[in-house]
Amino acid sequence: MADRIGFIGLGIMGSGMAMNVLRAGFPLTVWNRTPAKATPLAAAGAAVANTPAELAAASDIVVICISDTADVEAVILGPQGVIEGARPGSLVIDMSTISPAATRQMASALAERGVAMLDAPVSGGSEGAARGTLSIMVGGEATAVQRAAPLLQTMGQRITHVGPHGAGQTVKLVNQVMVVGNCLAMAEGLLLAQAGGVDLDKALEAVSGGAAGSWMLSNRGPQILARDWRPGFTIALQQKDLRLVLEAADQQGAPLPGTALIFQLYRTLEARGLSGDGNHALIKALEALSGIEIAAP
Ligand code: NAP
Repeated sequence: MADRIGFIGLGIMGSGMAMNVLRAGFPLTVWNRTPAKATPLAAAGAAVANTPAELAAASDIVVICISDTADVEAVILGPQGVIEGARPGSLVIDMSTISPAATRQMASALAERGVAMLDAPVSGGSEGAARGTLSIMVGGEATAVQRAAPLLQTMGQRITHVGPHGAGQTVKLVNQVMVVGNCLAMAEGLLLAQAGGVDLDKALEAVSGGAAGSWMLSNRGPQILARDWRPGFTIALQQKDLRLVLEAADQQGAPLPGTALIFQLYRTLEARGLSGDGNHALIKALEALSGIEIAAP
C-alpha cells in the first residue's frame, strides 16, 4: 500500500507540490497555519488535519515546506508539533530552506523517537513546484532517501542525494549564491540595454539562447520587461536565504563579496517596503541608484 503522506505548508511552493502528490495517487492529509489555504487541496480530495501532531499521527511520511528555521522548529518540536504525533518508523522530509546546523539538531531529536528525517530543499521556483519539475537536494541516510524516492519523484525531476543530514541545506545555500548572482547579472544587463536604447524584448530574446542564458533570465526577464513584480519568490524569503548563506560563509571562512553586496541591495528594497515583491525586483535597486528605468510596456 502507498505510504500515507502528510503535507505541512501550503504557500506558493507547498500548494503546487502537495497537489502533485495528490494527483500521483498518494493518500494525503494537509495542514496549513492559515486554514483557508487548504481549501483547494480539500476540494481535490485531501484530508485536513487540525494540528501538525494530528497530521503526523495520520501519516507515514510528513513533508514540510514553510518559511524559516524557527518556523520548522516550532512545527516539528513545538506544542502540538509533528514530534508529538509521529510514530517510530515514520519519516519527516523538510523541503523548506533553513539552517543546516538546526537541521542536524532536529534530525537528532527525531531519531531519539525512532523517526527518520531528510532535508530536501528545492529549486525551480513556483513554476517548478506547480509542474513537478523541481530540483531536489537531499541530505540524510540512504535508506530514507530510497524510501522517499517515489514521493519525491512526484514533485521533482532531478533528485540528488548530496550527503548526510544538513548537506541538502548546504547545497541549497550554494544554489542561492548562484541564483542571486544570475539575478544581479540580469538586472545590470537589462539596465545597460535600456540605457543603450535598444529594443529590450529583442535584446532578451537574443541573449537568452546564448552563453548568458539562465533560468532567471528566461523566467524573470520577461516579468521585468512587463514591470510585473508579483513574486515567484519574495524578497523577504530571498533575504532569509542570504542571511543563511552569509552566516554559513562566516562560520566556514569563505569570502562571498558579490553575495554580500546583493544582500545589501535587497536591503534597500526592504527599507522601501518592497519585501513582498519578487526577487527579480532587484533591478529596482539599480534603477534607484542610476535614475534609469526599464520602460513600462
Ligand atoms: P510562502 O508562499 O510565503 O509560504 C510560506 C508557508 O509557510 C505558508 O504556508 C505559511 O503559513 C507557512 N508558515 C510560515 N511560518 C509558519 C509557522 N511559524 N508555522 C506554521 N506555518 C508557517 O513561501 P514559499 O515561497 O512557499 O516558500 C516556502 C519555503 O520554500 C521557504 O523556505 C522558501 O525559502 C522555500 N523555497 C521557495 C521557492 C520559491 O520560489 N518560492 C523556491 C525554493 C524554495 P501561512 O499560510 O499561515 O502564512
